[in-house]
Formats: sequence, structure tokens, C-alpha cells
Amino acid sequence: MAELVFFSGTMDCGKSTLALQTDHNHAARGRAGVVFTSLDRAGEETLSSRLGLKVPAFEVSDETDFWKHVVDVLEAGGRCDYLICDEAQFYSADQIDQLARVVDELGVDVFAFGILTDFRTRLFPGSQRLVELADKVQVLQVEALCWCGSRATQNARTVNGEMVVEGEQVMVGDTNSDDVVAYEVLCRRHYMRRVTAATSMSAHISPTPLPFAEPEVRLASARPQVVLPVAPLAAAP
Ligand SMILES: [Zn+2]
Repeated sequence: MAELVFFSGTMDCGKSTLALQTDHNHAARGRAGVVFTSLDRAGEETLSSRLGLKVPAFEVSDETDFWKHVVDVLEAGGRCDYLICDEAQFYSADQIDQLARVVDELGVDVFAFGILTDFRTRLFPGSQRLVELADKVQVLQVEALCWCGSRATQNARTVNGEMVVEGEQVMVGDTNSDDVVAYEVLCRRHYMRRVTAATSMSAHISPTPLPFAEPEVRLASARPQVVLPVAPLAAAP
């Protein structure tokens, strides 16, 4: 029985690496797959992981129709046993419905990988629909860590170094001339207090009362400052 499986997690938790590994494992068993992604860090039509692996992929746009894509492959005499769908948070709800139909009516396994929530802590539409429809939702076991060492559960956006909680849901770095958009994973506590790795360092030397407990401050200053790559949320694994 074919399945729709959603692998979710924060940025930096290895989703794209797992997507590539999943593709490899199925291909090694002689199964035929099609790989999709959207706004990957490596550019269009590529699925890449931070660990350096990459494979060609179909770029998903608003016009992409998964149902039609798979039917076209089959009608042309091709095989399609499974789909790898990375960056699935950027897919529309309708596209997720198409994926469910591909599973149910064509017997094709769909493995979707995506971030659950955006920089405002709200569900992405594609991720919401996947949670609603998937046969299985799996939270990745590799945990991303906040600068404080706690498990990171939130994806924060910074613009010119300042954490922001309002703006476009999808915003790729360097789209707007001068603004530097970056993303950083944080634990919920530091997300709520808007304390990023950079501001935690300045808070340490600030004369104003610290917003968190002393032992944690020592931990923060003992760790090397985490300089996160300016990867767009759009391109996160
Ligand atoms: Zn933290």
C-alpha cells in the first residue's frame, strides 16, 4: 500500500540530507523515483544538502501539477514508484491534495520533507495540509540546537541582524537590495524573548538586567558565537 509520509523539523535538522538518502535507498532497490524541490539553496532544479550532496530535481512552482506530472510519466511508458518532495512547506494546499491523489489512485509512494512553521511560528500552508492528510508524520531525530544548547524548535528571521516577527512568509536572502535577511534556529524561550546568538553576546556586556538565569549566560559566553550561514528559510533543509 502506497503512503504519503511527511518528515518535518526545523531548519538545520537534516531534512534534505534525509531526502537524498531516501532517494538513494529506494533507487538502490531498483525503484524509479522523481525528485522535486522548491527554492533550494543550491538554485533551481537541484536538491542539495548542507553536507554537500546534490541531485537534479524538478523545480516546483505555482503551476506545478503533481498529478499531471506523474500521469504524463506513466503515459509515456515510464515508471514512477515514488516521489521525493523536498521543501514541501512551499507547496500549495492544492498541490498537497494532488500528492495524496497520486498515492491513492496511482499507488506511488510520496515522501515529503519540510519545515513545519515559519519565522512567525505559524504553519506553512503546505505543511499544514501535509499534517492534515499524511499517513505518517515523522519528526526528524537530528535536533537543531539553539545558541544556548537547548533543542531549537523555532525558525527566527533576522533583517540586518535584528530579529523580526512580521513580514512576508517566504523571503529569500538578498532579494531586497540592501537588507540582509538571515535565519537562525532558536529554542522557544529565546524565540519569545527575541534573543539570537548575536544579541545574546551583546546582552552579556549590556548594563541592563539580563533576561535569563546566570548559568545560562556562562554557557552562552563559553560557546563560540554561532555564525549561521545566510541561508534563506526558503532554502533550508
Ligand atoms: Zn535558547
